[in-house]
Amino acid sequence: MHPHPSYSAQAIADLRRQHPLLAPVMALQPVSWFNPERTPVDLALPALSLTAGDVADASRRLARFARYFNVAFPETQEQQGIIESPLRPIPAMQQAMIEHYGQPITGSLLLKMDSQLPVSGSIKARGGIYEVLQHAEKLALKAGLLHLDDDYAKLHSEDFREFFGRYAIAVGSTGNLGLSIGIISARLGFRVSVHMSADARQWKKDLLRAQGVTVVEYDSDYSVAVAQGRAQAAQDPFCHFVDDENSVQLFLGYAVAGERLKAQLAQQQIKVDREHPLFVYLPCGVGGGPGGVAFGLKLAFGDAVHCIFAEPTHAPCMLLGVYTGLHDGISVQDLGIDNLTAADGLAVGRPSGFVGRTMAPMLDGFYTLEDREMLFLLGLLARSEGIQLEPSALAGMPGPLRVLTETEGYRQRLGLTPARLARAHHLVWATGGGMVPAEEMEAYLAQAASTKPAAV
Ligand SMILES: *Cc1c(COP(=O)(O)O)cnc(C)c1O
Repeated sequence: MHPHPSYSAQAIADLRRQHPLLAPVMALQPVSWFNPERTPVDLALPALSLTAGDVADASRRLARFARYFNVAFPETQEQQGIIESPLRPIPAMQQAMIEHYGQPITGSLLLKMDSQLPVSGSIKARGGIYEVLQHAEKLALKAGLLHLDDDYAKLHSEDFREFFGRYAIAVGSTGNLGLSIGIISARLGFRVSVHMSADARQWKKDLLRAQGVTVVEYDSDYSVAVAQGRAQAAQDPFCHFVDDENSVQLFLGYAVAGERLKAQLAQQQIKVDREHPLFVYLPCGVGGGPGGVAFGLKLAFGDAVHCIFAEPTHAPCMLLGVYTGLHDGISVQDLGIDNLTAADGLAVGRPSGFVGRTMAPMLDGFYTLEDREMLFLLGLLARSEGIQLEPSALAGMPGPLRVLTETEGYRQRLGLTPARLARAHHLVWATGGGMVPAEEMEAYLAQAASTKPAAV
């Protein structure tokens, strides 16, 4: 574990002097920051401990498990047991945003709908499920019950459920990670406990309990739920703890999205290269999801892809960690920021140090936005495109405006000329919402309807 210093008033004052953006961040104002140390992919990659080979290995593992999903989760049959989401243009939303913000948005606007991912309806169906599969495969191979060239459909059986029942899995979560880990682990037969922070929605806890998952509730935030889960798992040698703050497996599961998106864009005849830049806007909590996806995207598209992370003004942990260089050595609470947001999955006060340190050189930028902007955009997307998402999934939506109106010289530095920007693709990663119950969605839409459009 990393030491987590707290900061004296003097130390905070010093930090503020060194890092002028902290003033608006601490005042909870929406900010944008483009990484002045963005490093070309060819230079950044060799310095990392993870490689394209690791992602390819994860991809092959998911392919092996496709036969299992085909039988254990029939909703995946349409895609031959591969858990992947649709990509679609949203021109009506683009037009609605141009009108609302009074700013041109050049290029095309695309939505990557992880809200529709089978099994758990959020981006966590990538990394979370992958880590459990990796663990299950390792156990079964070691016990001699499985071989790499077997038909993995055999895992969907009482014999295997009994075998996995000797092992436990634990995770700390604000909700969606718990859903993905809980559902897949329970289906395989593991004993699984999900440690939920106070902000986790009741329906997520109910759904998990209905699947036989042990849900442990806390009055405190995400960090505490994770720490408690970690402590419990440490006492049980048969328990695997899914460490959202540090897990390489989660990261690799997310990273497979890069090659998948590349194939999808090619299929839709959407070109990405220096002349046709791709901007991807990723809602960020602890950083594993967006960090892993960004890693996969950089492998797939090199410097032609620009990865920008979006966070709530009340939980800007990754921006804070990367901007100050302190990574998991600082939390938003250290700055007096409360970490309270309606955006499920984004209420994280301290970023993953592993992700920040690994990805910082390759990340393009960060911005924060208010809850009311996410809510307003939730309503606008529902009206313009008929697509319903959870609030956090809208965090990436204003991204194109942040890029197109920045004045820090980012576009100029990277040769993003008006001609290139006219051919750009802006891809908003819609990270969740597929499993939100109808009455909860009605409540979001009602809230959205009464939300005053936020200032840009
Ligand atoms: C978890 C989550 C994120 C962010 O992922 P992190 O790995 O926590 O950064 C974004 N959106 C939704 C809906 C999520 O559930």
